[in-house]
Amino acid sequence: MKITKVEVIPLDMDLDEVFKGGTYQVASRPTIVTRVYLENGIVGETYGGDEFHTQSEIVDLIRDHLSALVIGDDCRDFARLWEKMFHVDVDLGNRGLHQLDMHPRGILMQAISCVDNAIWDARGKLFNTPVYKLLGGCKERVPVISIGGYYAKPGEDSLEKISAEVQSLLDAGIAGIKMKVGRATLEEDFERVRAARTTGGKDFVIAVDANQGWAPLDAVKFCVAMERENLGVRWMEEPIAWYDQTDGLMLLQQKTSIPITVGQGEISGRACRDLILKGGVNILNVDCTLCGGVTEWQRIADMARYMNVEMAHHEEPQIAIHLIAANPHSTYVEIFNNRTRDPLLWELPEDFPIIKDGYMEVPKGPGFGIKLREDVIERYRK
Ligand SMILES: [Mg+2]
Repeated sequence: MKITKVEVIPLDMDLDEVFKGGTYQVASRPTIVTRVYLENGIVGETYGGDEFHTQSEIVDLIRDHLSALVIGDDCRDFARLWEKMFHVDVDLGNRGLHQLDMHPRGILMQAISCVDNAIWDARGKLFNTPVYKLLGGCKERVPVISIGGYYAKPGEDSLEKISAEVQSLLDAGIAGIKMKVGRATLEEDFERVRAARTTGGKDFVIAVDANQGWAPLDAVKFCVAMERENLGVRWMEEPIAWYDQTDGLMLLQQKTSIPITVGQGEISGRACRDLILKGGVNILNVDCTLCGGVTEWQRIADMARYMNVEMAHHEEPQIAIHLIAANPHSTYVEIFNNRTRDPLLWELPEDFPIIKDGYMEVPKGPGFGIKLREDVIERYRK
């Protein structure tokens, strides 16, 4: 079944407020819609990524180079198509895409991800099967948490803000929160986690994400304190800066039994392998819009399983829900329950998956089972 055309559409929208995490802030919501057309009229489509700085380079790479590698070829041969894209040889002139530097490597892997993910949707439609069943189909619904706990704006009460957000998640039937830490003092952040536990009650899932905000010993202090108070934190995410992850995480793991999550900053399966082998990693949250798509994500998941590492997924629930549902050693799908943080999550799909009793239903339609709204794509097209 031949691919006849690849279409790529960059989107962007300004957010109504600026959201501050441990080491960064978010003021806009960019993403890339990718469509793969098959010779029988099927169109695979999905969206993914929130890259602002290199969005146009990713789009150009797909349009000018990757498309030609998959057009005319069989969409069923996803592993072979992936190899063709991964080993693309592109001369872009001065320094070009020679893959010696981190920057072009990241652009390449995000571009491959766009095409690979859209091919998975097309294959699902071709076989009239949801992607999670193509991958193995372990779960019909998956537990859902919300990314949140962004820092208070001037004038807001930090602890009241956390408590109100946790209550809103309980009211929405969401199982837990992945909250930001790493920007305030350790003491202030600790109080914020304690407030989340007090409001959430003992069964509410709390994960904390420092976005690489700490030195190793600060991460140790924070995790030891959370453990001493028995705050029941499900995992500690990206506690330590990227340049100190291997030895730093090993040091942390020797001092705490709180599971450590990393991986969203990695762009290759081999980097995930090295993290697991060298670092103190319990959960990988590698992102299929960054690491080379569903094809490579599942290979990483298979590797992690044999190394007793659980799988999470950084954001992107429109695809991640299928990956979490397809694997026995998976954790939670993540959404932004606050619609102002990610309006596209709620506006782009014609139907958003049902959330109830802490779980999100896996879409049962073919492919990713989520049809994108053309009017929304047109509104935010760059
Ligand atoms: Mg994170």
